[in-house]
Amino acid sequence: MSIPFNKPFSVGTEIDYLNQCFVNEHLAGDGPFTKKCEAMLEKILDGTEKVFLTTSCTHALEMTALLLDVQMHDEVIVPSFTFPSTANAFVLRGAVPIFADVRPDTLNIDETKIERLISPLTKAIVVVHYAGIACEMDAILDIAARYNLAVIEDNAHGLFGKYKGKPLGTLGSMATQSFHETKNLSCGEGGALVINDKKFVERAEYIREKGTNRSRHFRGEIDKYSWIDIGSSYVMSELLAAFLYAQLEASEKIQTRRREIWRRYEEGLRDWAKENSVKLPFVPAHCEPAYHLFYMVLPSFKEKNGMIDYLKKENINSIFHYQPLHLSKMGRSFGGRVGDCPVTEDISNNLLRLPFYNDYTAEEQNYVIQKIKEFKVKKAVLVDYHAPVCIINFLALIINSYLQCVFQS
Ligand SMILES: *Cc1c(COP(=O)(O)O)cnc(C)c1O
Repeated sequence: MSIPFNKPFSVGTEIDYLNQCFVNEHLAGDGPFTKKCEAMLEKILDGTEKVFLTTSCTHALEMTALLLDVQMHDEVIVPSFTFPSTANAFVLRGAVPIFADVRPDTLNIDETKIERLISPLTKAIVVVHYAGIACEMDAILDIAARYNLAVIEDNAHGLFGKYKGKPLGTLGSMATQSFHETKNLSCGEGGALVINDKKFVERAEYIREKGTNRSRHFRGEIDKYSWIDIGSSYVMSELLAAFLYAQLEASEKIQTRRREIWRRYEEGLRDWAKENSVKLPFVPAHCEPAYHLFYMVLPSFKEKNGMIDYLKKENINSIFHYQPLHLSKMGRSFGGRVGDCPVTEDISNNLLRLPFYNDYTAEEQNYVIQKIKEFKVKKAVLVDYHAPVCIINFLALIINSYLQCVFQS
């Protein structure tokens, strides 16, 4: 048996819908499939103002930077443990990324470490719901409100996840989605901008359409369209929207499958993980995961690499994840140094992701779980100071009593 890490998934209706685009004679963006995708995403993201399909999550993030009017030298707080686009979208505008460390349990931005990073130049806090498990949004939104900062959710992992019953992607003033091949739903490459604050809707439409009011012209609201703002080409092709619509229609089934996969890992590995000091994903009681990925944190870098190599020999592909952004070439150019985000540095070294795809069979997964459990993890050597300290105290006590005897006599 050979188990890939990820496998593209087809629900079966994609090709029919692609053909339908030719019948509709509409291949460019904003056709009937785009409208249907946006309406369906607005339903999933209950409480949002407007969803626009975009060419990628990266581009949706770039749109948020334009909409927030991020300027040269502004600062944007981002977790160090994320994909480069989360920071790069703002760096493109001339902003400086300020890297925050993550919590050791959820691996999400540590809300207790945000406030000390805020300066008069701070414009926004960007959060990532890692693995589809929510950040501590109440605390983050409270900090943002007190300092008048925008909160952007990079929700590439989080579609269908919930925080205190509310859909991830509806909590910040804007959020971004990804439909890249590796995400829960996919059209190869694609994304969406989710707008929760009404004041951004009108400008978002111009920015997405090369800085023009073409969308309003197509709706018959104005006779001619022209160049009225800065912008770029962020509209998703109708062909990709058709493909995506097929996957969106099947999203309930896909999420049910992914929940099963996630739970099978969790149940199958729980005892083994405990015995071997391996950490599995932690889900706070008030969070419903989006079941995007399943990871393990091994006790050391050596054990992590040992596990990846061992699984490879068994034809199972597991892979590491984000390298700390503050230690990347770009991150260092903004002053990032070893020790700035110790939890991120540790997690990056010791974390691996297990195979996870929509048509992963129970048989394949049981094989992977079995093989993992056959791996003997060497625990990191923890120096136990307790025993030597006890002995020294005991000796001191004896010497003390002896000296007291000597001096008293
Ligand atoms: C996948 C991903 C992105 C990039 O998404 P694209 O659609 O490929 O641009 C950005 N941020 C996070 C957290 C991601 O996982």
